[in-house]
This record gives sequence, C-alpha cells and structure tokens, in this order.
Amino acid sequence: MKTLIQGGRLIDPAGDIDCVADLWLDDSQIVASESLSAADADRIVHADGCVVMAGGIDIHTHIGGGKLAIARLLMQDCIDDDARATARMAAMVDYLPSAAVAATRYLEMGYTTAFEPAVIPCNARAAHAEMADMPGLTTGGFCLLGNDDLLLKLIADSAPQALINDYVAWMVTATQSIAVKVVNPGGISAFKFGQREFDVDTPHPKYGVTPSKIIRTLARAVAEIGLVHPLHIHASNLGVPGNIRSTIATIEAADGYPIHLTHAQFHCYGDDSEHGMSSAADQLVAAMARHPKVTIDVGQIMFGQTVTISADEPHQFDNRNFASPRKSAIVDIECEAGCGVVPFRYRRRQFVHSLQWAIGLELFLMVDDPSRVFLTTDHPNGAPFTAYPHLLRLLGDRSFRETALAEIHADAAAASSLGGITREYSLSEIATMTRSAPASIMGLPGHGRLTGGAIADVAVYQMDDDLEKMFRRPRHVFAGGQHVIDSDSNHGGRIDLDVARRIGHQTLTAGVSFDPSSVDRLRDQYNSHSTFDMERLWISDDEMDSVLCSRVAKQPAGSRVR
Ligand SMILES: [Zn+2]
Repeated sequence: MKTLIQGGRLIDPAGDIDCVADLWLDDSQIVASESLSAADADRIVHADGCVVMAGGIDIHTHIGGGKLAIARLLMQDCIDDDARATARMAAMVDYLPSAAVAATRYLEMGYTTAFEPAVIPCNARAAHAEMADMPGLTTGGFCLLGNDDLLLKLIADSAPQALINDYVAWMVTATQSIAVKVVNPGGISAFKFGQREFDVDTPHPKYGVTPSKIIRTLARAVAEIGLVHPLHIHASNLGVPGNIRSTIATIEAADGYPIHLTHAQFHCYGDDSEHGMSSAADQLVAAMARHPKVTIDVGQIMFGQTVTISADEPHQFDNRNFASPRKSAIVDIECEAGCGVVPFRYRRRQFVHSLQWAIGLELFLMVDDPSRVFLTTDHPNGAPFTAYPHLLRLLGDRSFRETALAEIHADAAAASSLGGITREYSLSEIATMTRSAPASIMGLPGHGRLTGGAIADVAVYQMDDDLEKMFRRPRHVFAGGQHVIDSDSNHGGRIDLDVARRIGHQTLTAGVSFDPSSVDRLRDQYNSHSTFDMERLWISDDEMDSVLCSRVAKQPAGSRVR
C-alpha cells in the first residue's frame, strides 16, 4: 500500500533534509519519490502547514520490569478520582501508567520507539513480558551489569578482558538486550556489605575493586564486543551535593572509551553555596568539551507528584527520608542489583527542587551539539514522559522559559545562569535530539530518518507557535507504515487500538557474538552465587516470539551509523 504525505515541511537532520516536499511510504518503508505521482497513491495525507519528522525515540524511560509492579503496589491509594471513577486501574496515575497505557501515550505524542534502561538479568523475562503489552510501540532493554558478583569477582581476579567480554556478550544475548547499563558501579553490592559511602575510587569491601575499574572494564567490553550504544552509566553519588566530582571522575575512569551519562541533572551538583548545593552544569559541559566521546541525557525534573524508582538501592535508602507520601520500598532481587521505590513531590517553592529544574534546563541549553544531549525526564523519576511537549516549549521559547523561571524559588533562580541564556532550540535541533541522534547512538540504521529505505515511523505535527501544543498531539502517526493516529478519522487525534494491535510489538536487540566455551567455564561460578542456574537467564528468539509475543529485530553490531 502506497501512502503519500503531501506538502509538509520534512525535517530530517540525518538525511540533511529541511524543506517542503512530499513523503512516500510503501507498506512498512519510506521510499524515494522521484518516479511516483499522486495518481500512484492508495492513500493521501494532506500535510500543508505541518512539520513531518521521523517517529520520536526515547533512550531512557522506565516502562518495564518488576520495579514498576512494586511501585504500583506502593502507590495504589494514590490513584486519582478520575481513574477510580472509571475503574481504569490499569491507567493508575499520570506518572505510573500501565505498559499498554504508556504505549498509547507515546504514540499519541508521535513517539514510536522507547528503551527500558534497567533490565536486571534475572528479571528480564518479566521486563519483556510487560513491554510486549505495548502494541504499536517498538521497545528494547539495557542489561544491568556491574553489581553482579560474578563480574566483580572476575575483575578482582584479574580475569582476561576476553573472558569478561564473552560474559558481557552472553548476558546481552541471553537477556535479549541492546545495550549495557551500570548503576552506581559496585555501590549497590557494596551497600549489601554495609558500605554507606562509596565514591569512584573506594575499594569494594569484599572484592576490593573500585567503581573506576568497573567502569573502565565494562566500557572496554562494550566497545570490544561491538555494541553501538556506549556503556550507559548511572554514576556514583546520585543526588548528593558535590557529586560533580564523582561525575568527572567517572568520565576520566572510562579512559577514552565512549560512555553515556544518564540523567546527568541528578549528577551535576556543586556544594559551594549557602544552601549547600549549587549548579555544576558549566563544569560538566566543560568536561564534555574535553571528552568528545561522552554523551548525556538530562533527566529533567518537573514540579508535581511522581514516584522515583531506581536500582540505586543505597541512594534510594537515603532518599526514603524525603518520601512524599511517607512510604517507600527497598527490595533485593537475587542480589544481582537492587531496587528502591520512593514517592516524591517536586515543589516550585523549594530551593533544591527549583535548582534541579534549572540545572536540567542549563544542561540542555549549554551543550551546543543537540546530538550529545538527549531529551529525558528519566520517567517517572524526574517527571512522567508526557511532560516532553512542555519541556520542548521551555527549550524552544525563551519568553515562556523566563516566565517559568520567575516562578521558581528566588534564590535558586539567582544562583542559576539560566536567566542569561538566550538560546532557543530550533525544530531541526529538536528533531536531532529526539530522532536522528537517538537512532544513531542506539545503532538503529533504519530509524530516526525520512530517507528511502528507512522504517516508516513518521509523525506529522501541525505547525504552531506554541511548541507544547504542537508536540502534544500530532495530526498523524505512522508506526511501521500503519496509520495508528489519524486526526481525519473518527478516532480524532487518539490512537486506533485495532491498528496498534495489528502492528503488535517488536523488541530491538543487539547482534553480538561470544565464545560459548568461555561461558561454560563461568557457569559453576555463577551458579554458586545464585539460587538458579545461569542457563535459566537465556531467553531464545523463539520464546520471545511464541511465549512473550514480541518479534525480535536484531540490530547489527559495529560502530555508530553516522
Ligand atoms: Zn533511569
């Protein structure tokens, strides 16, 4: 079936396209249009006055896995009246949607792909099962390593890097993941041995290895096995004033290997003000200039109620003192990692929260290259992902931003350099940050672009001076060539669930290889630390397809596409 999207402004930074033109889809692919005329179209979508972009890609959002189930249990009394009245238990609250509801909300914003960044290996089946309940949305997971006893022991024993590489590649393949993430390197494990302070050069109380060594070993493994996405790092000392020193030490520990620092806003604090906390955005931006292989996503906070969920058990243990409402859950899962769930309310009148809001925006606006800073709220930790349209307006509309700045805590506004920043994100920069750069850094050659041969994930937005309104609800969305949002139909701008179910669900994984004989040597060691055999972590393509109802699309190993 041929679809013509006619007369829109196509913005595709990857293909160097920014002009008014027609776009052709042939079933699930974008096709070159030279030989086609309107008479060839089976369907015509009128896009005059609209901007046409590839489907949005979120590289860090918590949408699957046990921690969400724990959060829903903890927060069930916070279901709002609307949800209760309509018995929409599955919808829960804004900040904790069910998988199916989250998929709907992503598609209704023009996002077609989202990645769950914290898949604990022993919990990977549950994470994929939950994401499989996201019809129409393409997802993927990052395998969580760096607090697992076997890896810590291998590093402590000075095991050859080749053996560690095989272990990492096996774990990525077994858990059907696309990338590797480390959370508070070694710190979650150290916490279980009674360690309460843990910085980048602190030796682990049992294994003696430092976070610095773990970061270097894992970043090297990720590069050598050919994962395109660099090691995804949630650095040490989350949320602690003065943690910019740990963040810069983390960058240096990677020793030149590419790394991605996630929710950088929570790791970008100085401690030199009368309030005991200051912005260190300028220091992080300067460090990124010195280290060109470092990228960040922001983890912007927004004011209001949310719930924080993190594998960073030690810092969630500390954060429980700030819980609002006053309850929390700290959970161990097979000791491979951890989980802390703490409800949180960010308040505009509170100095720290106001400063966090300003630091996030500073990072977005001070990193010149929009392909090195990614749009995230670390959903739901900083805010629900549904805050993205509002956030885009803050970035692209200076006067709107200044009005918002005037409403935060006065000391935080005065301490921030945000007021002096005149930059406004252009539509092209927004497309880079939310489409082409995420596709590139995740190693997805067919996504995030509008050129012939790309997957037909496309969003059509009505141009509007109000960027929040514009990005809140696209007029049309195609996912894999299927017309899942059609404002001209009787669904209006809402999802057509029949179409979404027809698309089904797809998981993006990384095609890496390993030496099975190496892994055989590790099996006994793994089993001695675990309550089950290492082999039980293995999820086959067949299991993904027939049991978990998700098609696997392996992405090629190698380096970044562009
Ligand atoms: Zn996160």
